[in-house]
Amino acid sequence: MDYVFAPAPTPSVPVAGSDQRFAVRRIFCIGRNYADHAKEMGMAVDRSQPIFFTKPADAVVTDGADVPYATATENLHHEVEMVVALGSGGRDIAPEQAEALIYGYGIGLDLTRRDLQSRAKDKGQPWDTAKAFDASAPVSALVPASQAKPSPQTTLSLSVNGQQRQHSTLDAMLWSVPEMIAELSRLFELKAGDLLFTGTPAGVAALHRGDTFVAELEGIATLQGRIV
Ligand code: MN
Repeated sequence: MDYVFAPAPTPSVPVAGSDQRFAVRRIFCIGRNYADHAKEMGMAVDRSQPIFFTKPADAVVTDGADVPYATATENLHHEVEMVVALGSGGRDIAPEQAEALIYGYGIGLDLTRRDLQSRAKDKGQPWDTAKAFDASAPVSALVPASQAKPSPQTTLSLSVNGQQRQHSTLDAMLWSVPEMIAELSRLFELKAGDLLFTGTPAGVAALHRGDTFVAELEGIATLQGRIV
């Protein structure tokens, strides 16, 4: 193929315990998936329709890498989230069929320019500049589902500079992973390489340059990094 310039490299994240990498196609995220977080944002808990948004695939930052403090914000927030990686896809997937699509699990941060998000919400504007910016999706190495699977009692947590900021069990999610996959597949054809950020519990707060963070999906995945 004769491109006018060299195509960008394929964004990817490592697979834990392997030399292989998981090539990222798209990043789908769900908003307000934990009642305690919806409440801290002053929003009603609403299960009538999930809120989806996306980030570009090249927003991923891999485990251990420095995360640049985002431009154009004075309130960069962390949102720790379980990340589900798809090994296959489809359209109109039934919740009972959804688990078969899952390649593996990880933990990530849905970094958010909270000031821009608040402004967008007030004006009824889209969230892209608040959510889909460069380096907005730090994500751990992925653990294949054949090796480890989270249970409803598995916890996700985040500490910043050694202090715990966020902590919840997965059973607090309003939309389960199979429900999220089913709903997304009515709106988008899902494919191998898709990452799903599954929502954050309460405790979101600001990050600053020099902060170090550790995010964990208990017994499965760990993500560490530093804001620079
Ligand atoms: Mn989020």
